[in-house]
Amino acid sequence: MPRVKDKAFIINKTDYGESDIIITLFSASRGKISCIAKGAKRSRRRFPGSIELFSQISFNGFIKHPLALTRIDECQLLNPYFAIQEELKGYLNGCYFLEIINRCAAERQRNQKIFDLLEDLFTFLSEAPYNRNFNCRIRLFELQIITLLGFKPELSQCLDCGEKLSNDNPRDHFFHFSPQSGGLVCNRCRPRHPTAFKVSQGTINLLNQAHRLDNELRNKVNFTPQVEIESARLCRALLRWHSGCSFKSLKILERYVENNGLPDFIPNHANNQIKLNRYGVR
Ligand SMILES: [Zn+2]
Repeated sequence: MPRVKDKAFIINKTDYGESDIIITLFSASRGKISCIAKGAKRSRRRFPGSIELFSQISFNGFIKHPLALTRIDECQLLNPYFAIQEELKGYLNGCYFLEIINRCAAERQRNQKIFDLLEDLFTFLSEAPYNRNFNCRIRLFELQIITLLGFKPELSQCLDCGEKLSNDNPRDHFFHFSPQSGGLVCNRCRPRHPTAFKVSQGTINLLNQAHRLDNELRNKVNFTPQVEIESARLCRALLRWHSGCSFKSLKILERYVENNGLPDFIPNHANNQIKLNRYGVR
């Protein structure tokens, strides 16, 4: 019966019975794992206020069977990231990322880069919900998660005819992302993909380079509203294509933005020519 001792982020939790909690963790050495914390609602000694979303914990447990829930005996709180839960904008964005990991990450597959990215993301959401660069930073996290999950599409050529994508293409020669096939198609092939939407070279370059950015570089990157909108739309189409479902947390986030979220790059909302809600969250 292998013992497990590790640190992890809590990415999902559900009450189970009178005293247990089923939790999904993203751990440093085993990736995503589904667990049961027996007696967690009763024992303050073994679970001292530590079973909350976003929290980073260290835990002891064991794996009874490869397909069974990992049983957690006790855990300690390393960082609660309380500030995320205190500010709605950061919290809703955080829940969106938790759902991405919960639905899309493979079970029991170590991925240190995703673990490190979650640490950077939660630190950012705790400290900077009103950062002027907030939306760009969120887009970068989104693009990086997509890449780390292995969802980055083929970006060098048209999926249908194989035409190479090049910076030398004329200005009116756009590539389009086809949600139905999960990749890019050229102008000529676009009529066969009725749901395809335009993607500029800037967005493709960003997607190609996003995975190389560390926290310091992420702070410095800024990009145009067009790239920001396109990258949000592209990421969400990719997530939907790979997971086969829509994300509840994203719908809530979009509703929040529709009612509250004024874009921070356009000073006069009344003159805004861009239909933001159509493209999702800002
Ligand atoms: Zn083509």
